[in-house]
Amino acid sequence: MEYCDYCRLEVKVAGFKMDYMGSKKIFCCEGCKAIYKLFGDAPVVKNKEHVPSSVSH
Ligand SMILES: [Zn+2]
Repeated sequence: MEYCDYCRLEVKVAGFKMDYMGSKKIFCCEGCKAIYKLFGDAPVVKNKEHVPSSVSH
């Protein structure tokens, strides 16, 4: 199961993918992909700074 990298909804159609800063991103729709392309993961970056690099998935 994959989730949209923008809105976190379940991705039912795996056709909206993009390479962003060297990592693969997947989106639930063209809209999320377009918005992510414009704004990137800016809101997430702030949180990343607080996450230790050793965090595993
Ligand atoms: Zn989405």
